[in-house]
Amino acid sequence: MTPGEFRQWGYRFVDWVANYLEHSRDFPVLSTAKPGEIREHLPSAAPLAGESMEQVLQDLDRIIVPGLTHWNHPSFFAYFPITGSEPGILGEMVTAALNVNGMLWKTSPSANELEDLVMDWLRDMLGLPRDFKGMIFDTASMSTFHALAAARECIPECNVRDEGIAGSGIPRLRVYASEQAHSSVEKSAMALGLGRQGLVKIPADQEFRMDVDALEIAIEKDLRRGYRPIAVVGTVGTTSTTSIDPIARIADVCRKHALWLHVDAAYGGCAAIVPEYRSILDGCEMADSFVTNPHKWLLTPMDLSAFYCRRFDMLKRAFSLTPEYLRTTDKESTTNPMDYTLQLGRRFRSLKLWFVLRHYGVAGLQTIIREHVRLAKLFASLVESDARFELLAPVPFSTVCFRLRAGDAETQRLIDRVNASGRIFISHTNLNERLTARFSIGNARSREEHVREAWQIIAAV
Ligand code: PLP
Repeated sequence: MTPGEFRQWGYRFVDWVANYLEHSRDFPVLSTAKPGEIREHLPSAAPLAGESMEQVLQDLDRIIVPGLTHWNHPSFFAYFPITGSEPGILGEMVTAALNVNGMLWKTSPSANELEDLVMDWLRDMLGLPRDFKGMIFDTASMSTFHALAAARECIPECNVRDEGIAGSGIPRLRVYASEQAHSSVEKSAMALGLGRQGLVKIPADQEFRMDVDALEIAIEKDLRRGYRPIAVVGTVGTTSTTSIDPIARIADVCRKHALWLHVDAAYGGCAAIVPEYRSILDGCEMADSFVTNPHKWLLTPMDLSAFYCRRFDMLKRAFSLTPEYLRTTDKESTTNPMDYTLQLGRRFRSLKLWFVLRHYGVAGLQTIIREHVRLAKLFASLVESDARFELLAPVPFSTVCFRLRAGDAETQRLIDRVNASGRIFISHTNLNERLTARFSIGNARSREEHVREAWQIIAAV
């Protein structure tokens, strides 16, 4: 592609993106594609001769876009909605253009130093202590994986790094998290050799928060059995109900037993940039590591997870391994990200967050989060005003859990019906053995009119 052609196609594609964002609500929000249907419309092998970008664009419109579930749709209220904001999209474009790999400091000083800087900015916005150093991962799952790998490395009698779990002669390692914790904690236990049995699921209270007395009892019991507790994962904003574990009390337990405290605030943590919600992170100042996802609620396109840790020495012990071809003669003061992570290659993700933070400013982002919380309270009040429905959990953030009092079958029919309408998309969970509809607001394009319209569709049972 010549520079002239690139310019021409670049303008066409930017127009395409602008048009798509403007009209994303014209598509059915939830894809109606059948499994295999998209592939059926595409050739089974790559073209031998290059094709025109015109043809690519046509297939994008004709096959790909109709087969999407539109996360940009303002009435996407399922899971945790996200926003690919315009400045974030531009940041992604520049990242692709620069195409640097920040594995070592010298393979892209700007990428590495900007990452450090925006992680510091975000840390201060969240009110976390300044001895937390930040690093960007793709997802919260990977952030939690690294946190627990570092926690495992902290055990003095264990040299898993060299000998593996089997060879190190250590007792069964145990991690504790609430039964409401995200499945990524369990997956990390699986991947780190602790096994699913290495994760102890602590019961939650009536409001879906970890029962800290039960945590203490579980740890004591494990110690009596000769097991080796290593870490507790507390959650700020659990996936099902967005409940907030009592992090300060959990931190006390961790301190007493010298356990690593990791806080998973993948969704909820972002809200702490708003001064009146800052207290959701009470106790996190005592954590060893913390994760929140700007790609969830800070208008940054997928993917960008902000991981903070005050024990980078342990990450280094867990992951540093330098083959000759990656050796550098740089000063001790430079940091090579590859020394702290499982992966070698590293995208220039900080650029899009930098664009977002500079475009909106802290105040702009605060306004959006405040509005989403207001809209969630509005939706909850609509649910409460209709005797056929009930709320199933408090609403500390922008997610509402509700159901039809008539029962699971009726609630399932409701969810199926509203999602089949193509006009809104909601998801579900299970709370106390009851099917629960989940309505979450996190897309900056969702306005009050969309929330009110969604309620009309839901209430038309
Ligand atoms: N932790 C919590 C509390 C979540 O809600 C989620 C996803 O919704 C995750 C972790 C996993 O996030 P990711 O997709 O970034 O791995």
